[in-house]
Amino acid sequence: MIAIYPGSFDPITLGHLDIIQRGGKLFERVIVVVLPNPNKQPLFPIPKRVAQIRECTSHLTNIEVDSFSGLTVEYAKLKRAGVLLRGLRVLSDFEGELQMAHTNKMLWDGMETVFLATSNEYSFLSSSVVKEIAMFGGSVELFVPENVAVDIYAYINKYFKK
Ligand code: ADP
Repeated sequence: MIAIYPGSFDPITLGHLDIIQRGGKLFERVIVVVLPNPNKQPLFPIPKRVAQIRECTSHLTNIEVDSFSGLTVEYAKLKRAGVLLRGLRVLSDFEGELQMAHTNKMLWDGMETVFLATSNEYSFLSSSVVKEIAMFGGSVELFVPENVAVDIYAYINKYFKK
């Protein structure tokens, strides 16, 4: 069974990585797919996010990374993926995720949404939190893969430090 794990991953956090690793143990293949989110102003362009995810998942054999612009179900059909993987952190995630799962089911009956509960240590973590910490000069090493921390510091140095 092939699973897709869609998201904006701007940037990928250790919480996302945890879901990818655990998903990889459950499914034959997991395709992490970076999708544009029209409601969010991006920090990194999509090809950069794809490269970041590729680098921090390179030790995992059944993980692929891709990007797509369009409906998630269309991508799933293209890849013959029967599962859409999502992570659930807190109760407030649930409402939107459930709505999306029902919508996707209506759009295509060939795919099931599977939720993985976030590991406790990452339940507070989001890409937005990471971006906020970085903007205010904090360290992000505890929250993102090493290669992503390097990219974030480079970005901050380029655009925010005089
Ligand atoms: P989106 O913009 O589609 O919500 P995100 O990159 O924010 O994309 O999240 C992608 C998926 O990863 C979502 O299912 C989200 O709930 C999950 N996720 C985000 N942060 C964490 C975390 N810290 N632990 C587990 N899952 C997470």
